[in-house]
Amino acid sequence: MEKLYEGKAKVLYREGPDTLRVYFKDEATAFNAQKRGVIPGKGAVNNKVSAALFRYLEAHGVKTHFLEEVSDREMRVRRVEILPLEVILRFKAAGSFARRYGLKEGTPLKMPLLEFSLKNDALGDPLICENAVLALGLTTEGELEGVKAATLRVGELLKAFFAERGLELVDFKLEFGKVGGEILLADEISPDTMRLWDEKGEPLDKDRFRKDLGGVEEAYREVLRRVLG
Ligand code: UDP
Repeated sequence: MEKLYEGKAKVLYREGPDTLRVYFKDEATAFNAQKRGVIPGKGAVNNKVSAALFRYLEAHGVKTHFLEEVSDREMRVRRVEILPLEVILRFKAAGSFARRYGLKEGTPLKMPLLEFSLKNDALGDPLICENAVLALGLTTEGELEGVKAATLRVGELLKAFFAERGLELVDFKLEFGKVGGEILLADEISPDTMRLWDEKGEPLDKDRFRKDLGGVEEAYREVLRRVLG
């Protein structure tokens, strides 16, 4: 298969005319790729967690690019044109948000907070406001409303899904793509792209790698166990 793109955590291959094969790697990066490492087994966990979450969301009416799991580390997806936006939904302050406003991680928010970043590694994925998204023509108004509504719905669904499994969803990042006039949830949903805290408030996500907390592989495996369990 022709390799179309290799990113920090995934490789994309052209499979059919309208489909891609996504291969999930064990490589991990953080802080705009200034920190690099390998988390053995991460690729398989992220593939299986993403597949399970895409299926769950589809079953609840969310349109996604997911088609099927092909192997331990690979899934087949619809080919979409990715919008150059990272859509972040936060339930509690953490990470860059906590730093930006000088808040303690875990500070509750009065409402789920939706933020956009421009997907641009050279610029360090800067925060972007809705008016700038529209002024730059990154989406139409209708597309932006659709993306926001879908993200809030995904937030409700994922929050409930993880709560049933003893995990608190603190925040997550989504990406959307366009195909034939339709907007689909795309990319991945995994411990690389979410913050999940267990019953003791311990992170079971990429923060273990970012902050050198140890037990990184075990945390990823535990998330998969709970997602499948
Ligand atoms: N996130 C992501 N990719 C990015 C930036 C953030 O998947 O390029 C996820 C991150 O894992 C977290 C949420 O989006 O679940 C919010 O991240 P934040 O803005 O706090 O930035 P970070 O602390 O990851 O730099």
